[in-house]
Amino acid sequence: MPLGYQGKVLHVNLTSRELSVEEPDATFYRRYMGGSAMGAYYLLRNTPPDADPLGPENTLSLFVGVMTGAPISGQSRVAAVAKSPVSGLADESAAGGFWPAELKFAGFDGVVIQGKADAPVYLWIHDGEAELRDALHLMGQFTADVEDALREELADARLHVLQCGPAAERGVRYSALVNNANRVNGRGGMGTVMASKNLKAVAVRGHTRPELADADGLRELARWGAQNLDTSGVAGFKRLGTAVLVTSQSVVGGLPTHNWDSGTFDAAEAISGERMKETILTGTDTCYGCVVRCKRVVEVTGGAFPVDPRYGGPEYESLAALGSYCDVSDLVAIARANQLCNAYGMDTIACGATIAWAMDCFEHGLISEADTGGLSLRFGDGAAMVAMVEMIGERQGLGKILGEGSARAAEILGVGQDLVVAVKGRELPAHMPQVKREMALLYAVNPGGADHTVSEHGTSYIRFSEGVAALDLLDPTPPTVLDSEMVRYAVYSQRLISSMDAVCVCKFVYGPAWQLYDLDQWVAALRAITGWNVNLWEMMKVGERRLNLLRAFNAREGVGAEADTLPRKLTVPLTGGASDGVAVTDEEFETAKALYYQMVGWDAQGYPTPAKLHELGIGWVAELMAG
Ligand code: SF4
Repeated sequence: MPLGYQGKVLHVNLTSRELSVEEPDATFYRRYMGGSAMGAYYLLRNTPPDADPLGPENTLSLFVGVMTGAPISGQSRVAAVAKSPVSGLADESAAGGFWPAELKFAGFDGVVIQGKADAPVYLWIHDGEAELRDALHLMGQFTADVEDALREELADARLHVLQCGPAAERGVRYSALVNNANRVNGRGGMGTVMASKNLKAVAVRGHTRPELADADGLRELARWGAQNLDTSGVAGFKRLGTAVLVTSQSVVGGLPTHNWDSGTFDAAEAISGERMKETILTGTDTCYGCVVRCKRVVEVTGGAFPVDPRYGGPEYESLAALGSYCDVSDLVAIARANQLCNAYGMDTIACGATIAWAMDCFEHGLISEADTGGLSLRFGDGAAMVAMVEMIGERQGLGKILGEGSARAAEILGVGQDLVVAVKGRELPAHMPQVKREMALLYAVNPGGADHTVSEHGTSYIRFSEGVAALDLLDPTPPTVLDSEMVRYAVYSQRLISSMDAVCVCKFVYGPAWQLYDLDQWVAALRAITGWNVNLWEMMKVGERRLNLLRAFNAREGVGAEADTLPRKLTVPLTGGASDGVAVTDEEFETAKALYYQMVGWDAQGYPTPAKLHELGIGWVAELMAG
């Protein structure tokens, strides 16, 4: 068994209630590393073409990576992979917290879940053992209450729980997986998939640390990180969390506002990290073993919008989606909505963006109070936004339709199609392609739809040119330009971050934009953990392999270039602020897309070619695609 891993993958067939343990060989581990690369492997192997994402044939995988649980910052992350009910395509979503490290300590590198139980169950994994238990009594409860109930039931206050919430049970399409009640695999409806299998939660507890090749070397790197944190790029996240981005994004015209009509929010200060710190912040939190502590904890007692600190505090994406997207400047209302999303188990981005779309429809007279149940769903109304989040979580009234996401809601209601801001059904996160032009390309070509975590953003090419020089990126081009050099940047940056998604590490700690550690130090950490003589070239290949596995799954579904499109709204000039008048053009996008396909070795349909798959050592995928 390779060092750094436990060498075991748990397979769970919920239909037959059989549990089995696979012990993959060393080549498998080195080729796929972990995370969403391993998840994509099992998705392709186990889920047949045309499977219903919410049917028993879908495969839901939960994988950690080779660094997970090691004594260094930025390693406790888990990737959830399945065919998504949002896009109908291969998708993955990552989350941090303490659950990922605890899964490793409990004896497993991943869990592969198939079938559907005939009654609600939860999975209890502890010190190399696993069992399914009745979960009927947990149904309908908020996530923090389920966590408390399982700790009491299993008599262990230190176990960790990853679960789908009541929104998933009710069928909200963009339901999340939630661990610690405040860390979420938010995107793509992974919670909805878990609920469709009648699996309520996965509780983990263990005491076995994997052996390390060079524990002293890793300890030295960890010490270096703690000593250099305050002068690193990630220091701002320690100070204010990801909320530090709100004001700077607005200043450059990159904070989506008024359902993406503008990139500047006049009230950005009111929902900023600074304001949070001055008002409702009561503490900070971290992921297992990480010195950055970028997580916020907020609390509000009494008033219209009480906020329970167990549900954490809003991240930048949530402040934007539930705030500026909706023109809501009431930080307490946003914090309340964030709590509701974590308690019900819903993706804050999809939820906030769908409400912003509905507000746009309401303001345009496309829907009325007859549709909203009497709610005046106007931009800027924090109380209406919070009320609608609750209606979605409960699947009541218009909330039932908005729980389908903006693209499906537009279809169901037959209005507002041009106001939808989504790719492959996935609402856009709060990084605007108008000012970070390479995001236009990467939102479109990403297998699961719009995702801001798939690359270092184009702004980093100039600002952190030293950090990306090791990727042979030597000619910085401005972030507002989508020329061939920026496409090249997108390709290599995406490949690097894809490799970090295979290893399951935090980009704030290891990504070249924020770098607590630079890329050489990341590779040194990998060597210290595994004893493998890995280098950056090999890691880039792992990242490329992961991307091609996900993309090949889509190709087998017959979905390629025609789905790699952008919402019309991105081609409409923005109004106000620093990005006034800025738009993405169809011409630059189509040119970049064609160039991207050629650079990555995909055909004009956007399908990975057999040659590319063989070059990546995954010829079995080419054979699978050929039928
Ligand atoms: S930087 Fe923040 S998100 Fe990343 S591992 Fe550390 S605490 Fe978790």
